[in-house]
Amino acid sequence: MTKVFKALTIAGSDSGGGAGIQADLKTFQELGVYGMSALTAVTAQNTLGVQGVYPLGAEAVTAQLDSVGSDLQPDAVKTGMLFSGEIIRAVAGKVRQYGWDKLVVDPVMIAKGGSPLLQQEAVQALITELLPLSLVATPNIPEAESLTGMKISGLAERERAAVLIHTMGARFVVLKGGHDDGTTGVLDLLYDGNEFIYLESPRISTRHTHGTGCTFSAAAAAGLAQGNTVKEAVHTAKAFIQAAIEDCLGIGAGHGPTNHFA
Ligand code: PLP
Repeated sequence: MTKVFKALTIAGSDSGGGAGIQADLKTFQELGVYGMSALTAVTAQNTLGVQGVYPLGAEAVTAQLDSVGSDLQPDAVKTGMLFSGEIIRAVAGKVRQYGWDKLVVDPVMIAKGGSPLLQQEAVQALITELLPLSLVATPNIPEAESLTGMKISGLAERERAAVLIHTMGARFVVLKGGHDDGTTGVLDLLYDGNEFIYLESPRISTRHTHGTGCTFSAAAAAGLAQGNTVKEAVHTAKAFIQAAIEDCLGIGAGHGPTNHFA
C-alpha cells in the first residue's frame, strides 16, 4: 500500500465553503493529503460577509483533538480561526501532549469584511502559547501589525516584523504581502531566523480572494505532511494560491472564493 499522508486543520467553519475548515480540507484533498478537522467555531457566512459567529467551548475542541491524536496521528497540523484565549490554550496543550511539531499557525484575526474572528484579548495567548510551538507562522500584514504592535509600510519594517515574530518562537515566518494594495506585484517574505527570502508574484486584480490565507496555510501544511522542507512547502503553497486566485470561480455577489482545484 502507498503511504498515506495526513493533515489536521484546527479552524472555524465557513458555511460559504471558501475559507476556514472547508478551504483547508479541499486544499488537502487537491494536494493528495488525507484531511482531518477539529472545529473551533461555526460561522454563518457567504461572499457578502459574516452573518454570525458561534464559537465552541474549549472542551469540544479538546475532545476532537483527543479523538484524532489518540488514533489517526496527523503528519502536519495547521491552525486557523481559534476565536478565544481559552481555545488557544486548549489547542497548545494538545499540540504539546501529542508532539505535533509540524505546526503551521495562521494567526487569523479579522475577516476581509471586518468581522472579528479572534477576540482582542486572545492575541496575547496566540503570542505566548501557540507561536512558541509553531514551525511556520503565516501572518498577513495587518496580523503582523497586531502581533508586533508595529505599523508596517516599507520592506525594512516587514523584515523587522518577521524578526520579531521569529523571536516570539515561530521557527519560520511567512509574512504575506497580499494586503499591500496599490503595488503591481505581491511580495511574500520568508524568514528562517537567518536570511530573508522574497517570493514574488504578479498581483491579480480581482475581488475574489476570500479564503486565500486559509488556503495558503493549508497548502503549506500539506507539503509538510508529505515530508517536504519548509522552503519547498512554502514555494508550493505560493504557486497553489496564485493559481487558485487566477482561476477564481466568480460565484456569489460579493468577495467570492478562490479555486481549490489543483
Ligand atoms: N472565515 C473563517 C472561518 C476563517 O477561518 C477565515 C480565515 O481567515 C476567514 C473567514 C477569512 O476569510 P477572508 O479570506 O475573507 O478574510
